[in-house]
Amino acid sequence: MTTVNVRDPGLALPGSPAYDAATAVFNLAAPAEPAAALTARTVDEVRGAIGHAAATGRRVRVHATGHASAAVRPMRGSVLIRTRLDGGVEVDVRRRVARVPAGTLWGEVVEAAARHGLAAPHGSSATVGVVGYLLRGGLSFYGRAVGLAVNRVRAIELVTADGEHRRTDATLDPELFWALRGGGGGFGVVTAVEVELFPADLVITGAAFWPAAHARRVLDLWRRWTLDAPPEATTSLRVMNLPPLPGVPPALAAGPVVCVDGAILAARGPAAARSVAEDLLGPLRSVAEPVLDTWQEATPAAVPGVHMDPADPVPVVGDHMLLDELGDDGAEAFLGAVGPGSGSPLVVAGLRQLGGAFAVPDPAGGALNHLPARYSYAGSGPPLGPVTPQALRDHCAKVRAALSPWDTGTTVPSFVESFDQPQGHLGHDEVRRADLVRLRVDPDGLFRDDIAPGATTLR
Ligand SMILES: Cc1cc2nc3c(=O)[nH]c(=O)nc-3n(C[C@H](O)[C@H](O)[C@H](O)COP(=O)(O)OP(=O)(O)OC[C@H]3O[C@@H](n4cnc5c(N)ncnc54)[C@H](O)[C@@H]3O)c2cc1C
Repeated sequence: MTTVNVRDPGLALPGSPAYDAATAVFNLAAPAEPAAALTARTVDEVRGAIGHAAATGRRVRVHATGHASAAVRPMRGSVLIRTRLDGGVEVDVRRRVARVPAGTLWGEVVEAAARHGLAAPHGSSATVGVVGYLLRGGLSFYGRAVGLAVNRVRAIELVTADGEHRRTDATLDPELFWALRGGGGGFGVVTAVEVELFPADLVITGAAFWPAAHARRVLDLWRRWTLDAPPEATTSLRVMNLPPLPGVPPALAAGPVVCVDGAILAARGPAAARSVAEDLLGPLRSVAEPVLDTWQEATPAAVPGVHMDPADPVPVVGDHMLLDELGDDGAEAFLGAVGPGSGSPLVVAGLRQLGGAFAVPDPAGGALNHLPARYSYAGSGPPLGPVTPQALRDHCAKVRAALSPWDTGTTVPSFVESFDQPQGHLGHDEVRRADLVRLRVDPDGLFRDDIAPGATTLR
């Protein structure tokens, strides 16, 4: 048995700048407040912090950006490791695989891949962390063509509770590799991942916005198009109530808008991609002239910007569900809850288009490898000014009730907005299988507070 490393790991305590840096989170509504924290730049630093926690009877937590700080269990009493491992992104062009140290943000991978005419299965924001997004599923604007992002992970390196630095892949500890990929967490601290890229020189990408008065017509057209849209297109529809803040185009802050954005891969050539774009956007543009329309032919480097996610930390309260086909009644229920006249305090409430490769089980994939749902709903807003956290929670509950006939009862961890929302993404057999792995690699439960609700039967 490997013995844990218990030399002084340089943990920072509350009140120090190093603690503040290691505990900084993107979602300011859910601060991270562990007993001690460390920004780890080397595998040895990760091992040192794990060893110290084990020796002092504390549990270990891990994050990179804190984008998911509201979606995870509060950290009180634990040792938090913020990963920012050295090394940078390395692209093996021949294998089309990027090796990514933990703590890397997606923007860095997109940039490194684009130099070789390759694209990565990133989400809508360049500042989301690669590891947290991948381990929790990962819905990209390429997902209907390439599947859940986690299915493209080819290897994972991690430090487990015994202090051992392990590499897992399809042949090296395949059971741990299976569990790490969407199994709900609680296996160790990942130090690097290898993720498969794909060729993409040209994409058609952007966002078009209309005054929310057109929301019903835009939603109906978009929803009908999603029923048999080709898999190279992945889009979303959102109702947005943007505040007049710096960085928000005045046309979008003038009143509520409805937005259709996404990306279309030119997998069947530029002409086919243009035709898909016309099928989607032609009818929408004839509803009314968009107040802003950024759809264009571009390189994959443009895709992380189109969704206009905030780059800087904000407080956010929200909710998420995976939905079945909505039909006319579901569309009406959605707009009744978040559309014009609903009184919704949510700044963004939207539907991500699923289906295509998202819905196809990957036999080589991990615990979570497909999503049998039509749309991923997410709605959120900042508790600022007169809008209290409770007002946001109350409205989230109203939306949840309105959409309940279409709720699949499942969620995807990367989209979960708050720890206490109903959630679950694994069946009984997957939970049991993941728990057997946990009992092997973490028998004393050092990482047990990191496990997603519904993903374990262990206490
Ligand atoms: C603005 C914004 C846009 C987003 N867009 C998308 C999107 O398009 N698609 C999508 O699927 N999701 C999206 N998300 C959600 C995002 O993918 C999740 O919040 C994800 O968990 C963030 O990963 P992170 O590492 O940045 O977050 P963190 O909060 O740092 O980490 C989240 C969790 O991941 C695990 N984790 C992180 N690092 C490690 C590690 N080294 N070892 C082991 N476990 C680790 C831990 O359980 C941790 O609690 C978005 C979120 C925001 C705020």
